[in-house]
Amino acid sequence: MKIETLAIHAGNHGDPTTGAVVPPLVLSTTFERAEDGSIVEGRDIYTRASNPNRRALEEKLAALEGGSEAIAFASGQAATMSIFHTLGAGSHVILPDDIYYNTRVIIEGLYANFGLTCTAVDMTDLGAIKKAIKKNTKLIWIETPSNPSLKITDIQAVVKIAKSKNIMVGCDNTWATPFFTRPFDFGVDVVMHSTTKYFGGHSDILGGCVILPPNASSSELATKIRTFQSVGGGVPSPFDCWLLNRSLSTYAIRMPIHAQNALKLAAFLEAQPQIEKVNYPGLKSNEYHKVAKKQMLGGFGGMMSILVKGGQKESMALASKLKIFKHATSLGGVESLIEHRFSVEGIHSTSPENLLRISVGIENIDDLIADFKQALA
Ligand SMILES: *Cc1c(COP(=O)(O)O)cnc(C)c1O
Repeated sequence: MKIETLAIHAGNHGDPTTGAVVPPLVLSTTFERAEDGSIVEGRDIYTRASNPNRRALEEKLAALEGGSEAIAFASGQAATMSIFHTLGAGSHVILPDDIYYNTRVIIEGLYANFGLTCTAVDMTDLGAIKKAIKKNTKLIWIETPSNPSLKITDIQAVVKIAKSKNIMVGCDNTWATPFFTRPFDFGVDVVMHSTTKYFGGHSDILGGCVILPPNASSSELATKIRTFQSVGGGVPSPFDCWLLNRSLSTYAIRMPIHAQNALKLAAFLEAQPQIEKVNYPGLKSNEYHKVAKKQMLGGFGGMMSILVKGGQKESMALASKLKIFKHATSLGGVESLIEHRFSVEGIHSTSPENLLRISVGIENIDDLIADFKQALA
């Protein structure tokens, strides 16, 4: 089945009791045993361990990413943490230098006690990745497009380097999502998502997931992450699972609009004298366009960043003149957002002071362009 159909039907097995077409929300934390006290086969026992809404969601997420099994968490951070947790004390991780800020904080902050260390490299520089590999390197983490410079990592090339050294490759696929990039097709070992973003799509559900590649169900990694979920307890509520499942029904319809709008907006902004540079991999002029074309088979996504001529003052002024684009963090929702990254990331930010990150929504593109026109006038 194709992604549009899976987004609607995967994981929905109907409800034999009521015949409901939409799966009911099961809030119960506990489930009755059989008359003789035995566990009823196929029935849940306790909601932290498993719940019908979470199971339905996980089935859909696995189907969308083309994986064998998805494991849902209460946030993207909890999902990332479950992967880092499997590495064991004293492990070393190679990360992109412009990674989602808090991913790095998990290693350098939360897991410093366990001797976890990391090296941040420019993932578009394969030589730098090779040089960063140590005896205890257990994981290479990819995030593409990168945040906030929209650098595109050649997934296949990184996997090749990692495989030659027996190192696991993880991919944060939050920005591209399987609509645009399918990391398992390029040999990645594990995929992570903040479902808060495009999967949720409406900026109203916090969530995350880990997805295992085809034929990896019940693998050692899957078992460890499942245990981290069900025993560690960083699980999403049944309502969050139900709502995310609902949002996913329109996921495959939303994504091409994000990408079409982003491409048109990027082309418009590139031609404006007040804009120094547009970072969008869909532009032919973009330095990563060739790699992007090789692996972003469904389009180039809805995220971009722009460098405004001037500094923080000029970029903040532009952001505040926009009326439809809201100045707020996060991304992937139906509404367009713009954010000055330097001021949100603080003094350790590697983001240029004149950079604005844009999450292009699914409003009418003429309105979005008109909004920039009036702000730049
Ligand atoms: C938002 C985000 C995360 C963190 O996810 P939460 O759901 O906020 O915990 C991780 N990676 C990327 C790329 C993100 O955009």
